[in-house]
Amino acid sequence: MTAVMDLPAPPATSTRASASYRDLTEHQRTTWHLALEKAHDAIQQRDITAFRTIHELTAVALGLSVPHGTELVECSCDTCYCDAIGDEATYRTANGLPQCPTCTDEHPHSDD
Ligand SMILES: [Zn+2]
Ligand SMILES: [Zn+2]
Repeated sequence: MTAVMDLPAPPATSTRASASYRDLTEHQRTTWHLALEKAHDAIQQRDITAFRTIHELTAVALGLSVPHGTELVECSCDTCYCDAIGDEATYRTANGLPQCPTCTDEHPHSDD
């Protein structure tokens, strides 16, 4: 007798923790630029709720699986032409410039 049924395989998903700008569709690029603009406006008006909502919806639009309430940032690596977009907490570096995990591993920003 089988007490436990085999669990179905998790559905194939296209969500990931970060995206590359050049891999985005035209529609997603428009969404990303519009989101940055609207998020900037929200910050100007000190509307944190709107700011978070914009970033959350943008993560969905870009197919990103990031923590709830996160802020999306673009890798500002000055060593390569990286265009990764991901979660601010993951991209945070000591000197405040967002850098993706790949860049952090390969050529971290130097503080001195
Ligand atoms: Zn990078
Ligand atoms: Zn880099």
